[in-house]
Amino acid sequence: MLENVVRRIANTQITFGTSGNASERSSESVPSCWITPSGVAWPHIEPSDFVRLAIASGEILSGTLKPSSEWRAHLSIYGAHSWVGGIVHLHSPYATILSTIGSPIRAVHYQMARVADEVPLVPYQTFGSPELAEVLAGAISLRVRAVLAENHGLFVVGETVEEAYHSAEEVEWTAMIQYHAMAVATPRVLTPAQLNSVRNAFGDYGQRPLT
Ligand code: 13P
Ligand code: ZN
Repeated sequence: MLENVVRRIANTQITFGTSGNASERSSESVPSCWITPSGVAWPHIEPSDFVRLAIASGEILSGTLKPSSEWRAHLSIYGAHSWVGGIVHLHSPYATILSTIGSPIRAVHYQMARVADEVPLVPYQTFGSPELAEVLAGAISLRVRAVLAENHGLFVVGETVEEAYHSAEEVEWTAMIQYHAMAVATPRVLTPAQLNSVRNAFGDYGQRPLT
């Protein structure tokens, strides 16, 4: 639920001030999504502040506040990728640092395997612009679930908004490891074959209900 992810972001302080936004695809009649309001600090966002937008037209279907300035990016991604159920955008510190030095986030640790082989960097565009929406929607695929916007921050998708947030945490943690590793040497990057092997191993990771 979008409400839970908003609470989580407010508590972790993974993004600064009013930066970032989140949305969740809605199963109500018109293809639509619920999105966070623009310019409201995370701890102050209430579920009644969420705005519901039609995916095709951008029309406001419910809500009284202005939707996130990144509404075009969220709608373009939902419009282009029917499997995406939630989107989280953060100016999380380590991912954002890498975005300023022109570096994608690389698989320097297997933790990132579920999200992508590499989180690509897309060229700088003004926040909220149709151009940013277009490059983000174009960079995302089933195998690339996070994108780094140059001199800006991280956009992460998932089948649910909870999954998108969880992936954002994994990517931000990997960016932190990459940043510190780059300060002392050139980190080794896992190969696509090694990452595939990790994805297989993840299938059997953790607890299973006892039968
Ligand atoms: P909003 O507060 O309008 O969602 O904008 C924050 C942001 O990060 C823009 O890229
Ligand atoms: Zn932003």
